[in-house]
Amino acid sequence: MQYPTPTLLLKNAVEVLTCLPAGDDLIGRVPGGSVAVAGERILAVGPYHDLAARYDLSQARVLDCSGKIVAPGFVDSHTHVVFGGSRVREYALKMTRTPAEVRALGIPTGILASMEMTRAASEEQLFESAADRLRRMLQHGTTTVESKSGYGLSLEHELKMLRVNQRLKEASARHPLPDVVSTFLGAHAFPPGVPPKRYVDEIIHDMIPAVVSQNLAGFCDVYIDEGYFDLDQTRRILLAARQAGLKLKIHADQYAALGGSELAAELGMVSADHLNYTAPETMRRLAAAGVTGVLMPLIDFAVQHPHPFDARAMLASGMTLALATDICPGGWTESMQLVMQFACRQHRLSPEEALYAATVGGAKALALNDRGALAPGLLADIQVWDLLTFEDVIYRLGHNAVAKVVRRGRVVEERES
Ligand code: ZN
Repeated sequence: MQYPTPTLLLKNAVEVLTCLPAGDDLIGRVPGGSVAVAGERILAVGPYHDLAARYDLSQARVLDCSGKIVAPGFVDSHTHVVFGGSRVREYALKMTRTPAEVRALGIPTGILASMEMTRAASEEQLFESAADRLRRMLQHGTTTVESKSGYGLSLEHELKMLRVNQRLKEASARHPLPDVVSTFLGAHAFPPGVPPKRYVDEIIHDMIPAVVSQNLAGFCDVYIDEGYFDLDQTRRILLAARQAGLKLKIHADQYAALGGSELAAELGMVSADHLNYTAPETMRRLAAAGVTGVLMPLIDFAVQHPHPFDARAMLASGMTLALATDICPGGWTESMQLVMQFACRQHRLSPEEALYAATVGGAKALALNDRGALAPGLLADIQVWDLLTFEDVIYRLGHNAVAKVVRRGRVVEERES
């Protein structure tokens, strides 16, 4: 054979959604399509009879996709999936009480509560609990997950969290888990008892060099906001990270516009995330600088955000958008399908725009050009939905449509349908 021999065939779907835009069709629908996979990569997408004419399919495992929809695996580009303990008590009390009333009960809240529980947890405990969550994310169709540190807030505990990321990534080669992309977020909050200036110096002079020399992360991220890192601190940290070879992300404009998104445009960061208070002019600068906007509808829902982000204005500015879960102790979801449902109903994305942001956009927000769509040569990260109509994925609220998940050419998830 002139071509590699197909090892897997997803055959005769109602539609294959390649997520390769074609004319007016943002998600590249191929009605009645099939997907041929050779090893870890996609070989071809098209009608079955075309593939059968071009390739020897006799060695391929066949997944019958009749009555089903085939789409790229989700790329969840913003998560805090590694954390110790749970903040369920805080969350439940906040249903009926204000944050101040919850704090008055003496219950630890927020990032610092998670810091205590994460510091107290062993590396093994953090690994096991994150692997549990990641397994369920895979069962909901997610094949790549970004994972941030940021609950250690000291050299020792930040490195511990990043080693957990590394172990999760290694485990994903052998077990049914998504691929993991590691981000260093030492600048998530100021640890109690450490003067801010000293902590920023520690991040720049101790943490970033250690993270880079131990190859524990590809990205550096900073939370710029009132009571967190200011613009000057954020700039110093991210310039040091870039100098050390890390790619850049930023939590910007979530509760206050302090210049974080303008800095993202200026430095050409890979992504700017949240963007609740971002001005239209800044959106245009982000678009021009090629910065992907990462939007997380379920964290806005979980915290009852007073100022939801404006996805339509961002699209009008020309920005590329990504959708992400932002799974964290303050807002816990493992389902990108649920994220799409909220992105459409609450933030006025079309179903096609939501799928594109959850796949192609996610890959762009992680600077990954080998996944996010179904095209020859890309990784065979694929999900199969037990749905007859694509739009059912945003219509059937809270439903998990996933019947099968393929990661790097291996079937890693098969559910009864
Ligand atoms: Zn975050």
